[in-house]
Amino acid sequence: MQTIRARLTAWYSVALALTLAAFAAVLYVDRRSASYQDLDQRIQSEASLTAGILAESFRARGVLVGRDTAGSLVLIGDLAGLLEAVPDFLLITAHDGTLLFASSDARALTFQQVEQLRRLASDPASGRSTGTVRLGADGPKIHYAIHYVTDAGPQFGAILAGANVRSAELGPEQLLSTFALILPLGLVAALLMGTWIASHALAAVDQIITEVREITDGRSLHRRLAEPVVKDELGRLAETLNQMMMRLERSFAALRRFTADASHELKTPLTVLRAGVERAITTPNLPQDALAALEETLQEIKRMTELVDALLTLARADEGIAPLHREPVDLRGIVEEVQETGELLAEQAGVRMSVATPAEPIVVSVDASRIRQLILNLVTNAVKYTPAGGSVRMQLGPANGRVTLSVADTGIGIAAGDLPHIFDRFWRADSARTRTGERPGAGLGLAICKWIAEAHGGQIDVVSRPGRGTTFTVTLPRDPAAQS
Ligand code: ADP
Repeated sequence: MQTIRARLTAWYSVALALTLAAFAAVLYVDRRSASYQDLDQRIQSEASLTAGILAESFRARGVLVGRDTAGSLVLIGDLAGLLEAVPDFLLITAHDGTLLFASSDARALTFQQVEQLRRLASDPASGRSTGTVRLGADGPKIHYAIHYVTDAGPQFGAILAGANVRSAELGPEQLLSTFALILPLGLVAALLMGTWIASHALAAVDQIITEVREITDGRSLHRRLAEPVVKDELGRLAETLNQMMMRLERSFAALRRFTADASHELKTPLTVLRAGVERAITTPNLPQDALAALEETLQEIKRMTELVDALLTLARADEGIAPLHREPVDLRGIVEEVQETGELLAEQAGVRMSVATPAEPIVVSVDASRIRQLILNLVTNAVKYTPAGGSVRMQLGPANGRVTLSVADTGIGIAAGDLPHIFDRFWRADSARTRTGERPGAGLGLAICKWIAEAHGGQIDVVSRPGRGTTFTVTLPRDPAAQS
């Protein structure tokens, strides 16, 4: 149940199933008790009707009991024929308890079952005029009413009218099975409807998610969500998110402005400092230790200047005020320029350097100085992170309508866990490695490389194995229309 949509649908279906089940249960219980009442009334009226017939016949004829061929007392023929019309079980007993009449339904019962009913009718001690009894261990369950006959002459005992309880249960049970049939259909309908309602209700949430995702990539914080006219929950959510984004945009802008201003403000004093130290170094007859101190200071100033430049570049890029001055250039020229610097660095570090460029020109519309900065950063890193004896290889070539430039080294490599972070600002692989140590740096170089590649509509990828080396590949679109 990963989505609210699925959960809503499930809840909706469960709620509907429970409602249907509860409704069916209530209806079943109600119908069952109504059926029992009906049954009770029916047999009561059958018993009284029979008593009425007996009383009426007694008044008209006097004698209602005769003897059959076996000599037993029985109800006279035409009266018995009349009572056959009464449905269900009907038993009439004599005052001594012997059976005078049994209806056709009753005659269909076994002898023991009829005996059981007869005993009930001839047992006035029970004192009950209605009841339910099971005939035998697994015979039918009978609901009965007993009416004692008082106004049809002295021969009569009681009338027992009874009906199978099953006839009262059949209706409600049918209802239940109908429900059992309807329930799965209802559930399917609930699932479909639930899905539809949930998707309908959550479509707006989906839209908000998509829009927020697009906005929060960091560069589109100026955009806002469309706020619905109706201020329902989603309307208020969109409004709240918009307010949040406005505050975020403001603080982001303030942060960028601060970094840009601070870097900018630092540039002039650094230039003055650098000029001062450079001038001081040239002073003749300077004591050795003073000279060393000045040289160290100059190095530090150079590093700070680089850092401030990098910060300013990134702050301007973030603010969108670092325009690219694009013009068609042959990338081979830039690679060759970088090669010169790279070879100097490589020689100092005892690293071999090789370059492979295609014979035909690779002309792309780019900001030449930015692309130079990008390649130089990669080459500097490659040399910096490759121990003496290793090699660095730069390769330029066209690929599938794009241009790729790779810088591969046989250096120390980058751990797999570090790879996702290397383009982050101020990130350096080994935190123990100091800014001024064996491999100085601030951790901004790759962040700038990434920005330059992406600003040209391209991308930068890295493949690395610790101890084996690293390859950075920059891909740039060749078609000017594809460049943003
Ligand atoms: P730095 O100034 O530290 O070189 P970068 O942004 O250029 O900053 O690089 C970030 C980190 O990525 C480096 O500190 C280093 O750990 C790792 N890295 C970059 N290039 C390489 C490479 N060619 N080989 C191994 N590690 C590298």
